[in-house]
Amino acid sequence: MERPPRQAEPAPEGSTCAEHPEREALVTCPRCGSYCCIACWHNAAERCHACLLRDPLPPVPWADEERGWVSRLAGTLGDAIRPSRSAPGFLRGAWTRGISFAALTFLPLAALSGIIPFTHRVLFGGRFAITLAGDPTGAEVALDLLQAAGFGLLLSAVKLLCLAVPFASLTRAYGDKDIESRPARQVMLYRGWLLTLGGNGGLLLGLMVWGLPFSSGADLGELTQVMLYVISLLPLLLLLWSMTSTARVAGAGPVASTVVVLVPFLAMMFAEPMLLDLISPWLPDSEALREAAEAAGL
Ligand SMILES: [Zn+2]
Ligand SMILES: [Zn+2]
Repeated sequence: MERPPRQAEPAPEGSTCAEHPEREALVTCPRCGSYCCIACWHNAAERCHACLLRDPLPPVPWADEERGWVSRLAGTLGDAIRPSRSAPGFLRGAWTRGISFAALTFLPLAALSGIIPFTHRVLFGGRFAITLAGDPTGAEVALDLLQAAGFGLLLSAVKLLCLAVPFASLTRAYGDKDIESRPARQVMLYRGWLLTLGGNGGLLLGLMVWGLPFSSGADLGELTQVMLYVISLLPLLLLLWSMTSTARVAGAGPVASTVVVLVPFLAMMFAEPMLLDLISPWLPDSEALREAAEAAGL
């Protein structure tokens, strides 16, 4: 349960929520003085739901015209590590502003995320080594990198859509329907880049394995593998946490805001192996890669 901060007084014993007369009130809103139940109180914003909509917090840094673009970009990227505190910003501004941010962050990272797992000719071994398999021409290497980047882009885009489409419609169904800033769309555009970093095919795991002081054929050991995998999940957790916090400020209750994230997440986990299977004829075969790595002395 969310605990009220020190500034907010608890609601008087036996009082009921101003919005939901059938529910017990827990907190007195420090702004408007009304009594709120757990669903109406926003701990990170320290105000009730009505006050949050009436008097919203500053918008996403990217949408702040006063700042230079580097500061807007850095501020918005940095906000990803404060999912609850930054979520109320998605209640402000036009969601379409997030499109340029996603084009600058999600698209290049998604393309990069395909390079390490999907190249046939360029091998990424331990200690950030790069080796060419066989004796490819420059054009073959370029084509190989381009195709791998294309698959990274395709896979990340499909995963993002699997998350974003059900999340946006469920958030609208469980939350307030008339928030013009479309917070669910905003969180996907401003935080979607986290998806390219996290998980099994993510950039973070690829970079960690590439940089490890082992050869690619070596057995990493179970503990190291589990540790690397857990670290690689952190960006995904930040994304899911951001989505839950956003569903909360968009008016979904504490339980509903978890459901509206969990359902799309399961859809994505289900779709990913099917898509990988579909494009598998064009992906490098792990046995062939291992042989090539050994032949190249990695
Ligand atoms: Zn209030
Ligand atoms: Zn209430």
